[in-house]
Amino acid sequence: MGAIGQGQYAYRVNNNKPKNLIMMQEKSKKREEDLSKLSKKDLIKRAKKFSKQYCVGDGEGFRLKDYNPKPQPDPGPEDKPLSKQALQLGVQALAALQDILYAQDKWSLLVIFQAMDAAGKDGAIKHVMSGVNPQGCQVSSFKAPSPEELDHDFLWRCQKHLPERGRIGIFNRSYYEEVLVVRVHEKILQSQKLPEKLITKDIWKERFKDIRNFEKYLHRNGTIVIKIFLNVSRDEQKKRFIERVDDPDKNWKFSAADSRERGYWDDYMNAYEEMIENTSTEESPWYVVPADDKSYARIAVASAIIHALDQMDLEYPKVSAEKIAELQEVKKALLAEEK
Ligand code: ATP
Ligand code: MG
Repeated sequence: MGAIGQGQYAYRVNNNKPKNLIMMQEKSKKREEDLSKLSKKDLIKRAKKFSKQYCVGDGEGFRLKDYNPKPQPDPGPEDKPLSKQALQLGVQALAALQDILYAQDKWSLLVIFQAMDAAGKDGAIKHVMSGVNPQGCQVSSFKAPSPEELDHDFLWRCQKHLPERGRIGIFNRSYYEEVLVVRVHEKILQSQKLPEKLITKDIWKERFKDIRNFEKYLHRNGTIVIKIFLNVSRDEQKKRFIERVDDPDKNWKFSAADSRERGYWDDYMNAYEEMIENTSTEESPWYVVPADDKSYARIAVASAIIHALDQMDLEYPKVSAEKIAELQEVKKALLAEEK
């Protein structure tokens, strides 16, 4: 689409940011490190530090070329055991925090995933949430809207799936499609049944503003929103598409339509860039995660979620002295029961 324009993306490493690998300080020295010796507190601290390098915060001046789809330094096969351990421990820490979130029943967390096809959204969701109590988590996927959904404003279908207090909600795609696929394909916008008068050159700016306001509103009501862009390179997507053709068990994941969307790569990258620039805030940040390495991306995602949960001053509900005395009475009665 003309409004977005064309642009070539030459990726470079963001030299302003730390380049730590997998919760480690220095790749060569720490490869042997046993992360399981870390206390939960230290693990959370490391996860936060690790995730920060991918956190955009205030989006002003955001440029996608500053974020490399490949982790820096690139983890080699020798790092596999450590990254496996890091993910395992990250998942455990996340599950422990989620348990308190659920018990406290005040805050909720919404994690939004957006990415090009084959960037690894499904795998990241599956692995990162694998340790979490399913009762406290809900995943919603958003595909092309149904006729009923098109009869409403664009946030309507997503609002129905917001997480309850104490829960983590995952959006696999979201209302952000409204400034991505809808922007790249103008004919989708034309099919949205909007009054013509409302479709002006400012529509994308207006949607950014609506989204910012919506997320602010959620924040003020105790729902923290974080957004993850799995940043895969065009070359890596090609490799994964070919694998999906060659592996019969992966055929179901692939369609000619996915390959057609690839043809709009630059338009999508421009749309992503503007979207992140305009909707990343300190309160509801975008994380631009290097996704060319799946294991690394999953650790970064787990770390970002840990970071968000840790900001919530989570604690188990305090039980009053009266209630403790009552529980002791119950225990006494149970022990006194005849066999
Ligand atoms: P994924 O590609 O995320 O793994 P999938 O392949 O299972 O999911 P698809 O059938 O490809 O699911 O549906 C997702 C498609 O729906 C994407 O191409 C996405 O751009 C499109 N989509 C999502 N929201 C909208 C929207 N609001 N308007 C138009 N298209 C949308
Ligand atoms: Mg798809």
